[in-house]
Amino acid sequence: HRRQKILVVANRLPTKPKRDAEGNWTFERCSGGLVSCLAGIQQKFDMVWLGWPGADFNDTEKEMVANEAMKQGCYPVFLRQSLIDEYYNGFANNVLWPLFHYIMPPFDKGVNECSTEQWGAYKKANEIFTEAILSVYEDDDYVWIHDYHLMLVPKFLREAKPDCNIGWFLHTPFPSAEIYRTLPWRQEIIESLLHSNLLGFHVYDYLRHFLSSCVQLTSLEISAHTIDATTIGGCIVKCATVPIGISPDEFLWAMKKPEVQSKIEHLHEQYEGRKVILGIDRLDYMKGIPHKLMAFGCFLEHHPDWADKCVLVQLAVPSRRDVPEYQRLQRQVHELVGQISGKHSTISAGVPVIYMDSSMSPDDLTALYNVADVALITSLRDGMNLVSYEYIACQHGKQHPGVLILSEFAGAAQSLGAGSIRVNPWHLQDTANAIHEALTMSSEEREALQEYAFKYVTEHTAQKWAETFLQCLQEACSDLMEVT
Ligand code: UDP
Repeated sequence: HRRQKILVVANRLPTKPKRDAEGNWTFERCSGGLVSCLAGIQQKFDMVWLGWPGADFNDTEKEMVANEAMKQGCYPVFLRQSLIDEYYNGFANNVLWPLFHYIMPPFDKGVNECSTEQWGAYKKANEIFTEAILSVYEDDDYVWIHDYHLMLVPKFLREAKPDCNIGWFLHTPFPSAEIYRTLPWRQEIIESLLHSNLLGFHVYDYLRHFLSSCVQLTSLEISAHTIDATTIGGCIVKCATVPIGISPDEFLWAMKKPEVQSKIEHLHEQYEGRKVILGIDRLDYMKGIPHKLMAFGCFLEHHPDWADKCVLVQLAVPSRRDVPEYQRLQRQVHELVGQISGKHSTISAGVPVIYMDSSMSPDDLTALYNVADVALITSLRDGMNLVSYEYIACQHGKQHPGVLILSEFAGAAQSLGAGSIRVNPWHLQDTANAIHEALTMSSEEREALQEYAFKYVTEHTAQKWAETFLQCLQEACSDLMEVT
């Protein structure tokens, strides 16, 4: 009797390839992200990961790479660098990512040939992923496909294995149908997704947008979040809201480590007499970093007395560095940091913004989350935003907890909304007022917000997310058997 097997299919394998001096490859398992989310369910299920191994390997290396990866329960999906450029950097990150975050192509440009070629590459890559799945798939396995990179896999897979159990989860927002329907390939993508048994979304709004898109683009019947797509060769598809979370225990344990405690002490000494406002974001245009800086500038304009009493510590983790839009964003952000520092720095207090183009170790991050008096999240769109959850976890146990300021355009606002000050990041004055409110809020109010948010974060963990999704998937698949 073998255990139920789950094939976890995501663009990237959770491994980092490394080559030694003799040219041999080894694989280091990454932690964080999806890996820690799925750690808990490994006790119940056998898991095989499928994904791109992170580099372009030549034919002689592939076998060695595959053997090494298999030792980590990983099955590499080999893709040429040119295909990665077109499918991943091109279609997934340059067409789908902006559109799913409500950024349309420039108003004076339609879809050009370049995107059409990238669409071809997207299809090709999705076919290669499907072939890889088929080479490890055994009857009754569950296939859990992740994210916008792999939206054509459900159909390819269903055609090859009509009885396959297929679930798909979207880690980004699903945009309003009015946005989605501008996509030239809207039909093929939506019809492919409808070959899954279960489609999962972070928040109800994304699910609703998906259903509206189905109504607009297909003539299928939808009732109670279930779509009968059998007439187009698809499935009885269940749609569910399954919000992701974090593993709060990891942060609670980390905070107890002596090395983290000493980092916390050190930060307290360093920022003595100043309140710390913290921003942690990937350097991505949808995180609203320029809006955050402008709102902070606006706050200092209106409250110059705060200039030497607070500091904005902003970490901008480098992301997609080879994409021109991201390079432009970095220049703009540097300019804004310069402007604010030029205007509000003083000899006695120094600069009001500490800005870093870098990433941080988990211990440093935990310490920073802990000492921050305010966390400021101004995403213009964000599937969920786990930084807000991590901040709440790391405020636990503090006598005077800090305050989370959270953009209403982050998925997290739907869960942590009542435990934070919600802002519209487009409204700079609104955010500036929220900064002032957070800095001057009474202890009782702060405790009440923290209590609410911490309860939510500890009850809706990453582990619970994975278990709930798989349970919904099992139900969706067994319901289907009853119907047929
Ligand atoms: N993070 C990290 N290194 C850093 C700073 C942050 O790995 O130097 C992590 C952070 O702990 C969080 C994740 O990056 O888990 C960001 O997730 P979020 O959902 O907030 O945004 P995303 O980057 O996925 O859009």
